[in-house]
Amino acid sequence: MKKWYVVIGDPISHSLSPFMHDHWFEKHGIDASYIPVHVEPKQLEQAFHSMKLLGISGFNITLPHKQAAIPLLDELDETARDMNAVNTVANENGRLKGFNTDGDGFVRSLLSYPVDKDRALLVIGAGGAARGISFALSRAGFSNITITNRTFRRAQELADETGSKAMVLADAEANLSEFATIVQTTSVGLTEEALPLSMTHLGSGSVVADIIYNPLETPFLKEAKAKGCLVLNGVGMFVNQGAIAFEKWTGIRPDTEEMIQLITEKLGGNHVNR
Ligand code: NDP
Repeated sequence: MKKWYVVIGDPISHSLSPFMHDHWFEKHGIDASYIPVHVEPKQLEQAFHSMKLLGISGFNITLPHKQAAIPLLDELDETARDMNAVNTVANENGRLKGFNTDGDGFVRSLLSYPVDKDRALLVIGAGGAARGISFALSRAGFSNITITNRTFRRAQELADETGSKAMVLADAEANLSEFATIVQTTSVGLTEEALPLSMTHLGSGSVVADIIYNPLETPFLKEAKAKGCLVLNGVGMFVNQGAIAFEKWTGIRPDTEEMIQLITEKLGGNHVNR
């Protein structure tokens, strides 16, 4: 029998998830379809009832529902509990189990680059994405994580929770050359030509990641590239969070490299940003 998968969000029409999952279903000969559904916050509870009623096999949850969905689930795994947010749900015999694959998606993407888990890593930002990424980096064995943020208190709180260090933005700027890996998780660069911090002291040997993927190259990545750093954008995180969800639903690990290329092309790029 055909299986149905869904992504809910508000807005949702821009989502690239249907393209990604339908491509993988077709490639692996799975009789399934993945559809975007526009769900407003006031409709969330009703949407969850409908998922059960219609026997939807799994769904993704995007903004603004990632936190509000938690009380509506029957079960929550460690990743979603750590992040206090859910982006993936599996329907296990009528019970809805929530996961968060964002952080592990980022780590998988980062690990395709030459990074040393024991060297200093800087996370810029302390919002929802930074939270998932910081927990996932710790779980993956990164042992020297520092978090900086415009609002220092949030960096300190996240560092305390994840066993990392916190640093005020001015100190992170002054010591930027000390970090072998730098991960930009703020929304700065999404819509404006701005940087989340001064990059004057960035050296040439760092691996520099930005989790934004549209635009493919933020001002932050442009600057890092100009300094000679190895850069990666957020397409890898997006594709890998989807791949981990796909694995939970089907038990199959899909080809992420091909998908990174396809999504990059869809976003107007013509090669993977390495
Ligand atoms: P949140 O709103 O939870 O956090 C926003 C973060 O950005 C905070 O650290 C905030 O700092 C900082 N920030 C916002 N505006 C500014 C500013 N003008 N100057 C300095 N810092 C600023 O957002 P999320 O963590 O959910 O998402 C952040 C980004 O991650 C988004 O751009 C999103 O597109 C991207 N993302 C990418 C994914 C992918 O798959 N590639 C998945 C999920 C998110 P403060 O605490 O001081 O307010």
